[in-house]
Amino acid sequence: MSHVINPGARIGVLGGGQLGRMFAMAARRLGYRVHTLAPEGDTPTGQISDVEITAPYDDLDAVAGFARAVDVVTFEFENVPAAAAATAEKHAIVRPNGRALHVAQNRIREKSFVADLGVPVTPFAPIRTDEELRLALETVGCPAVLKTASFGYDGKGQAMIGDAGAAAAAWASLRGQESILEAFVTLDREISIIGARGVDGSLVTFAAFENVHRHHILDVTVSPAGVAESVASQAAGATRAVMEALDYVGILCIEFFVTRDGRLLFNEMAPRPHNSGHLTFDACRTSQFEQQVRAICGLPLGSPDLIQPAAMANILGHLWSDGEPNWGAALAFPDVKLHLYGKSEARPGRKMGHLTALAGTTDEARKRVTEAREALTKPLG
Ligand code: AMP
Repeated sequence: MSHVINPGARIGVLGGGQLGRMFAMAARRLGYRVHTLAPEGDTPTGQISDVEITAPYDDLDAVAGFARAVDVVTFEFENVPAAAAATAEKHAIVRPNGRALHVAQNRIREKSFVADLGVPVTPFAPIRTDEELRLALETVGCPAVLKTASFGYDGKGQAMIGDAGAAAAAWASLRGQESILEAFVTLDREISIIGARGVDGSLVTFAAFENVHRHHILDVTVSPAGVAESVASQAAGATRAVMEALDYVGILCIEFFVTRDGRLLFNEMAPRPHNSGHLTFDACRTSQFEQQVRAICGLPLGSPDLIQPAAMANILGHLWSDGEPNWGAALAFPDVKLHLYGKSEARPGRKMGHLTALAGTTDEARKRVTEAREALTKPLG
């Protein structure tokens, strides 16, 4: 279907988090109306939307009504149950398509799909029984990491296996759910690539992002990544190959490991905008969120060019442990932007917002954004 969904039309977002919120901001700036459906009320996305429907994803009547009222449906959260995605597809155009969602919802499917395209992936084995785990450890080796095949995020549903003796405890900790065993790779760094692909097959990728995680949660991103041009272009090429193979329309993020010996390995993909691309809001000619709007509506993609080196630091709930953070102290830094997601409850580990800094070099941007974040804990007044 190649017709354009013009500004003024209605876009539906499944999911209510910050990714949907920033998508809705981009959509509304372009003149679209936004509807959202999520199980909770007053969500970060709902606060920016024209219509907020509060219903569980398995309320298929609610999903059908939501889809019928809009011109195109997208999602900001990939663990939307397959039945909800299929129901939406009966009543509206859904972009990206159900196949992309299906592949990305399961680590075994996703790694097998990407490996079949010839993209190097972390050595892995599917695990469904403790016997399979015992055998797989002999080929994958130790140390290894066991991850649930589905519904894992921010390091949840993962267990390290230092030696074969730790296997039983790791399997028990994941309660025998379908899992994937991966060799634990010695990393030089982690990078991600975000691609946007339009209805007509046009495709652009943003400059590579370099990501540092803390306690399995993204902490700081800088762009451009400090990797050789050959590594960045290999990563962009792999992202392009995955998007083309899935006939993908929308935004896809792929996270890669760069090993100490300079090899690039696929880690995982997200069929939606990604935390590592938040800096595109302030630092790129077109943000990942605007690209998602343009892509799913059949409009031309914008330039992904980075205007200036940039860094992003996540703001997590623990920063509220001594009361309200000192926003003024962070905003006193030049070229620092604050984004808050409208969440009323600051729990430790919860993503509440982020800061972006622009500077002459990525090192300066990283320094500026981390100093601005540290300033949040300065006493008020
Ligand atoms: P994931 O949920 O797969 O993105 O894992 C979260 C983080 O854990 C990654 O970004 C890495 O920092 C680390 N990690 C996960 N899998 C591996 C692995 N196979 N080897 C080394 N580090 C890993």
